[in-house]
Formats: sequence, structure tokens, C-alpha cells
Amino acid sequence: MARVYNFSAGPSMLPEEVLKKAAAEMLDYQGSGQSVMEMSHRSKVYDDIIKGAEALLRELMNIPDNYKVLFLQGGASTQFAAIPLNFMNGSGKADYVITGQWAKKAYQEAQKYGEVKAVASSADKTFSYIPKLDKSEFTPDADYFYICMNNTIYGTVYHELPDTGDVPLIADISSCFLSEPLDVTKFGMLYGGAQKNVAPAGLTICIIREDLLGKARDITPTMLNYQIHADAQSLYNTPPCYTIYICKLVLEWLKENGGLEAMREKNVKKAKLLYDFLDNSKMFRGTVVPEDRSLMNVPFVTDSEELNAKFVKEATEAGLVNLKGHRTVGGMRASIYNAMPYEGVEKLVNFMAEFEKANS
Ligand SMILES: *Cc1c(COP(=O)(O)O)cnc(C)c1O
Repeated sequence: MARVYNFSAGPSMLPEEVLKKAAAEMLDYQGSGQSVMEMSHRSKVYDDIIKGAEALLRELMNIPDNYKVLFLQGGASTQFAAIPLNFMNGSGKADYVITGQWAKKAYQEAQKYGEVKAVASSADKTFSYIPKLDKSEFTPDADYFYICMNNTIYGTVYHELPDTGDVPLIADISSCFLSEPLDVTKFGMLYGGAQKNVAPAGLTICIIREDLLGKARDITPTMLNYQIHADAQSLYNTPPCYTIYICKLVLEWLKENGGLEAMREKNVKKAKLLYDFLDNSKMFRGTVVPEDRSLMNVPFVTDSEELNAKFVKEATEAGLVNLKGHRTVGGMRASIYNAMPYEGVEKLVNFMAEFEKANS
């Protein structure tokens, strides 16, 4: 069996141990005589899976009791509408920071529902930095303040959170979920699609402070009403059962491997290897200002389109796949999520060094 190192931004690599366990349990989940794929979501055996996943997530992220954890469908993109529908219920205003395509899409969707302000943007330099925030620009009576914490396409991350005072901070953490410890109490809501760092596609996890719930607008579709899902403990309708099961296996893997502190250490080590190489290379360079670099997504370029294409092609042949960058940045992007082993990044860096030597 030849497995590649997959640098895809998402769906992305899962830990091999998790895939093996899922394979071993495929036909007969723990003596139930059935696959998790075939189970009723109302059965006792499945209830243990979904409750177990929530308990593990709470433990790993240190989620306080006054936050609800929801396992939903629809992807992160569906929350772009659900967030204003559920929370734009006071002044009808919200602030957004535009740090890339995902933040912009969320901002545009919210404009359908209220008075939305872009308090800062880094569009002027292809989102290669996190803009400095001027508090005097913030809307004092905003219903919430929205950020995209890790910008998957552009490779930036907030190392410092905006101080929004009493205005609840809402963050899309799709591409940095579980990559390092995060203080949940700083947020009104955290959410993300699972397919980057947590599970296969199909699951969206929302972590919401309880006091923000129960005030959705009347027009809110039932399926987008967070209170409905919270009351039903994510079983209002059929949840993405199998994806939640894999999520649970990933959470068990995280716990067995030392939790989020250990994960941060590993992720810092991997990212440093790649950034150090980029900083010393004469052919390749990172596209993000050093102070805002993401641990998870690393875009880089050469000065030649031709060399970029050659590099991606030859890397693929060497088993280093999905390195082509997003069309809005060009060049390459290496997504090095939790499941990417150190050896994968080492292989990439060695390959880049050889490529540089052979082509200069
Ligand atoms: C991938 C991604 C999305 C979109 O997720 P879907 O689940 O495909 O809707 C949104 N935000 C961020 C930060 C992402 O990385």
C-alpha cells in the first residue's frame, strides 16, 4: 500500500490510526453486528457515539458548561446565513473583518439581514496579512463581531484576538479547529466545517454561549435555528452519523496523543521547518507577512509560473499531492493539519531543496 502525503486544504488527511480503526469496525461496530453507517441515530449504541464525541470535544477544548455544542450539516457556508438570523436580533448591526474569501462571503451573506460593517480589510495586498484593528471603528451596539480566525486560502491567522468588550466575538475556525488550545470563554460562538482538521466532510461543529440562544428571528428556517438543535441535542433530524463517528475517533486519537498542547507543539515544529526553509530559499518564498503566518496553511511561490507548474507536477509524481495554490494566490499551498506527520513536511522540504538545486 502506497499512501501519499496529501497537502490538500480540505477535505484533507486523517490520522492513519483512525482510518485503520474505522476499517476494522466497518462491518461490525463493537459487537452490534452492524456498521455505524447502518445504525439508527436514535439507537442506544449510536447515542453513546454522539454523546461520547461531545464529551471528548468538551474535554479537549475545555468547553465550559454554559456553552452548547452542536453537530450540524450544511458546512461552514450555511452558518454564514444562520449567524445573522440567530444573533442579529438587537440593534440589527454587526461588524466583520475582511481577511479573505471566507470572511467576505460571510459578510456578504449577512448583508441580506441587517446593517453590516466591514471594520477592516486586507484585500489591498491579496489578504497577505491580518489588518490592524482600530477600536474607534467598531460599532458599540453591534449584535456581534465576526472574524475568520485562520484564513485557509491566504495562510494568515490571528495571533491576538480583537478586544470587542461586551460585543460577542464570533469566529470561523474551520481550518484551525483543534490545532492548538483556544480560550473558548473569549467567544460568543466558535464554529467550523469538520473536513479540514476534525473529520470527513458533512459535519459542522458549532460551540455557542447559551445566553445568545433563543432569540432567532421569526423568519429563521427551523433547520438554521440553533436553539432547535440545542434543545434536541443535535438529534432534531438525522445528523451526519458516520462523520460524527469518525470525528469521535479523531478526538480519541488527539487525546491519546497528548491533547491540544501536544498538538500545538507538533504543529509549531512542522510549520517552523517549512517557514525556515522558505525564509532561506532563493527560489521559493512565503506570501504572508511573518507575524501573521498560519500554522496550518502555508502558501508559497517562485517568481515563475512555469517553475510553479513544474514543481507541482514533479511533487505529485513524488507522492506529495495537492500542493497547487488557490487560484486567487497562485503558486503553491501546503496545508499541514494535525494529521500531517512531521515526516511529510520533511519530505516536502527535502523535495523543495532538490528542486531548487536542479532548477537554478
Ligand atoms: C473551507 C472553509 C469554509 C467553507 O466550508 P464549507 O464546509 O465547504 O462550507 C469556510 N471557512 C473557512 C475558514 C474554510 O476553510
